[in-house]
Amino acid sequence: MDFQPDAGLDTFRQDVREFVRAGLPAELAGKPRGSVRSQRAEVERWQRVLNEKGWGAPYWAQKDGGTGWSVLQQLIFDEECVAAGTPTQDGFAQKLLGPVLNAFASPEQKAEHLPHIFSGTRLWCQGFSEPGSGSDLASLRTRADRDGDHYVVNGQKIWTSYAHEADWIFLLVRTDQEARKQAGITFLLVDMKTPGITVRPIRSIDDCHHLNETFFDNVRVPVANRIGAEGDGWKITKFLLNNEHATAADLPILKRYLMEIRKLAASQKAGRNSLIARHEFALRLARFDAEVNAIAMMVKRVAAMEQDHSPAAHAMGSMLKIRGTELQQRMSEFLVESLGDYGAVAYPEPHAEGAEPPLPMQGMGRGIANEMFFRRASTIYGGTSEVQRGIIAKAVFQL
Ligand SMILES: Cc1cc2nc3c(=O)[nH]c(=O)nc-3n(C[C@H](O)[C@H](O)[C@H](O)COP(=O)(O)OP(=O)(O)OC[C@H]3O[C@@H](n4cnc5c(N)ncnc54)[C@H](O)[C@@H]3O)c2cc1C
Repeated sequence: MDFQPDAGLDTFRQDVREFVRAGLPAELAGKPRGSVRSQRAEVERWQRVLNEKGWGAPYWAQKDGGTGWSVLQQLIFDEECVAAGTPTQDGFAQKLLGPVLNAFASPEQKAEHLPHIFSGTRLWCQGFSEPGSGSDLASLRTRADRDGDHYVVNGQKIWTSYAHEADWIFLLVRTDQEARKQAGITFLLVDMKTPGITVRPIRSIDDCHHLNETFFDNVRVPVANRIGAEGDGWKITKFLLNNEHATAADLPILKRYLMEIRKLAASQKAGRNSLIARHEFALRLARFDAEVNAIAMMVKRVAAMEQDHSPAAHAMGSMLKIRGTELQQRMSEFLVESLGDYGAVAYPEPHAEGAEPPLPMQGMGRGIANEMFFRRASTIYGGTSEVQRGIIAKAVFQL
């Protein structure tokens, strides 16, 4: 693994930066709401801009209509978009479901769903977690019973991000009550307009609505909406969750926080002087800078391991997840501290009218207090820190 600067990647970054600078419509700039997905119209508009450039699916292989970028190129693309404040794409469709469809779906299923992912006209949500089945996902109980050409789905999902806005959900269900728990799981695609689906909001600590409980009451799902064979759900889920070792730290958001802290260092005053003149502030900024750089190095290493199909990439990804998410929490707390009175501003709904935060945090798109509270969840979603530590322990002690 070579840690030297890579001229090819530097040129790539310049190209992406130039494209984003020229291609981002003025009315979309600075619209993203921190970690909250952009609104439907913004997602669609941004997809159109990306499609014109041939970048509509930045994380997919060329044979699937994607850019064929390496993991490091994908991260550079994300970093430049986050830094410039572009709208988000539909991450569930692009990063989770899309690769699954490309690998496992039938030609008919691809023809039905892939064009909508490219156009951004069909938003997705992920129906995996249930009350009592989060870390131990294989214990899930939502059941699907076969009735002719349909499955009849009954049960409950929880923490379903954006279910209230989504058009479709990809869902794990139990189709075999007798089989070993991993073996009885099946992967279904379900239209959220199907009768029998109820979505109830969960308001999170950041005082926003992105989470939900989703109930299924005799929901009839065509068998044609099953991905893979009955009982393949666990294999598909492992494929889906295995895609993200190098990205587990969310390096783009760490770099964005660093950029914001640097801006505050010069623009915010502590008494008569800029914040940066305070020894303690300068020291903490320098520490964050070093920590983000260390993560960036580790990301390179994990990306190289992934390319070599090294089995250690899994545990290294867990280390990145723990280090990255803890750093997200500390940096967002520091931003709140550094903003003084502004730091206390929080918005009830990031999409609500007049929800623009005041200067100097315009760039973050919503009150940094919301962002700090949201980041409390980063050590839970995507696999809790305790579960990640278990994975590391297994690898280190060869349990
Ligand atoms: C903001 C947010 C968004 C989310 N979005 C989605 C979504 O869109 N779709 C979806 O399906 N899910 C989503 N989730 C759910 C998420 O995947 C789960 O919260 C996560 O997997 C943890 O499961 P749990 O909440 O059931 O906690 P549990 O698994 O019940 O864990 C409870 C506690 O026990 C600990 N623990 C559990 N097992 C072990 C173990 N083996 N070793 C040591 N400690 C252990 C955990 O670390 C935790 O501290 C989201 C969660 C959050 C917070």
